[in-house]
Amino acid sequence: MTRKIPTFQAHEGATASASPSAQDLLGILDSLDAAVYASDMHSHELLFLNAYGRRQWGEPAGRKCWQVLQEGQSGPCEFCNNPQLLDERGRPGPAAVWEFQNTQDGRWYQCRDQAIVWSDGRLVRVEIATDITERKALEDALKASHRRFETLAYRDELTQLLNRRAFFSVCREQLASRRSADPFAVVLIDVDHFKAINDSLGHAAGDQVLREVAGRFQAELRSDDILCRFGGEEFALALPGNSLDAAAELAERLRLALRSRPLAYAGQRFDGTASFGVAAVAGDEVDLDALIKAADQAMYRAKRQGRDRVCTASGVE
Ligand code: GH3
Ligand code: MG
Ligand code: MG
Repeated sequence: MTRKIPTFQAHEGATASASPSAQDLLGILDSLDAAVYASDMHSHELLFLNAYGRRQWGEPAGRKCWQVLQEGQSGPCEFCNNPQLLDERGRPGPAAVWEFQNTQDGRWYQCRDQAIVWSDGRLVRVEIATDITERKALEDALKASHRRFETLAYRDELTQLLNRRAFFSVCREQLASRRSADPFAVVLIDVDHFKAINDSLGHAAGDQVLREVAGRFQAELRSDDILCRFGGEEFALALPGNSLDAAAELAERLRLALRSRPLAYAGQRFDGTASFGVAAVAGDEVDLDALIKAADQAMYRAKRQGRDRVCTASGVE
């Protein structure tokens, strides 16, 4: 391999003895904890690769930069021909910096590239590549935990349904974008005698029942319907565009979806039912709190009348 080392000028005022030799400069480049290479910007011949680079990617042996540094590439890549490195007259411009995952060793590098004029006048691309794999892994872990926290902020952990806070915020968004003639319905649902399930089969059985109930309800709904875990063994369902009758019909379907098949836990089978309260409005102004309160009162009426039934609110619409 022939290596051409560009001529280095000593700083003005520096003495000749303070000027490092080509061997000293090579020593500096070879001791760096980063890959440094230079490649011809036209032919892509790899003119120099420091010790770090040779350890990582092997001897250049007359090969082109993309043949040594990358895998499975049939020609120069966008970095080999990076136009950002030259100004409008085709002369060396400012350095370009980017982060890149190397296709040979799978590691992430921060690559700092600059065009320079080589000693024989040709344009050469010089790159300093620093391994940032650990930093990238930390960043990825941070992003993943951020996503987890975001999910925790609006999802109920047990059922994966929206939580109460998210329910209010999604409902308010829906109400803000609805046309005033469109009806809007809310159904409040409370599992009947749920405490008895906890008491007889244990808290884990209760949790499993809540997940099963959520799954059965969800299977009956469309993507526009907003189901949430309202708290404890209570669920709330908002139905944009649904009248009181349509919402009551849907509530009846949910009631049957629950009571028509027994629930099961640890080999035991038992019946589960719920009580439903439905309220709806149509008009310009919708008071969401008043609507939920009306649905809640209807739900308590369903409890008083013997549970496992759907009751509708009157006087809200
Ligand atoms: P009713 O038919 O009148 O609604 O009776 P109920 O037993 O369903 O109602 P009650 O309010 O007396 O009891 C609700 C129970 O739900 C009490 C509480 O311990 C339990 N619970 C609330 N959240 C959870 C939960 O996340 N998991 C489990 N397993 N139980 C819960
Ligand atoms: Mg309750
Ligand atoms: Mg209950």
